[in-house]
Amino acid sequence: MNFNGTIAAICAGNPAFEPGHVWLAGAGPGHPRYLTLEVAHALSKADSIVYDALVSPEVLALAEGAELHFAGKRGGKPSAAQENITASLIELARAGKKVLRLKGGDPFVFGRGGEEAEALVRAGVPFRILPGMTSSLAALASARIPATMRGISRSITLATGHAAGTDDDLDWRALAKVGEPIIVYMGVRMIGEISRLLMEGGLSPETPTAVLMSATTPDERLLVATLATGEAEIERQNFNAPALIVIGDIVSMRDALTAEPPQ
Ligand code: SAH
Repeated sequence: MNFNGTIAAICAGNPAFEPGHVWLAGAGPGHPRYLTLEVAHALSKADSIVYDALVSPEVLALAEGAELHFAGKRGGKPSAAQENITASLIELARAGKKVLRLKGGDPFVFGRGGEEAEALVRAGVPFRILPGMTSSLAALASARIPATMRGISRSITLATGHAAGTDDDLDWRALAKVGEPIIVYMGVRMIGEISRLLMEGGLSPETPTAVLMSATTPDERLLVATLATGEAEIERQNFNAPALIVIGDIVSMRDALTAEPPQ
């Protein structure tokens, strides 16, 4: 079977996109090559696509004839905006549309997919969840940093830096004591506070720290620093969101995996 035949065979078995249904889908980290076949297929079948700020223009360009609704929340008031988004999903579904709710990465990883699914359950709107590649996996691959590595790491924590320093924050000092790598989403602005808490928890200031910005997009950039110097490097090199921070000895594997082969 050739490649197109393989894709057709896979998509032939996909569940039908029914009018009045919502598909809550992950668009992956940015570049369309990371879309799952099912999400790519859904892009061609949807009537309405409600998308977030992190969904790339290249992914949206694959939508065929769907009306596009931007639901970005950057700089807005998240809770009020979130209610509007779920209300519009319900409204579009009740109007008989095939609604594709498209989020960056995976909808269930810091994507508020759980909350949107809850609202759909309450409203009695049928829905499916279509996973996507979460941005950290693509970013690690791109930077040649293995998420787990025998002898170096036994687990990996995906954490949000969004609430760093607030009452709603997670226990960074306790995470430091686990001694395993941490990947921080939404953390570039709070890296100073996060690093301070991790060092208080016992992590060495020398812990290798990588920052991966806009992974898989034309703006992709990487910096490697230490826990102590990360904040200053982010500032000096002008790194902004969206970016992921990888903290732990696995970052050092990059040197071995980017080395020139022995002669
Ligand atoms: N659901 C998404 C995460 C949404 S939270 C996922 O699974 O990836 C938003 C955060 O995701 C950003 O602040 C950033 O930390 C991270 N992010 C998303 N796309 C990214 C990309 N292409 N490069 C680097 N970080 C990204």
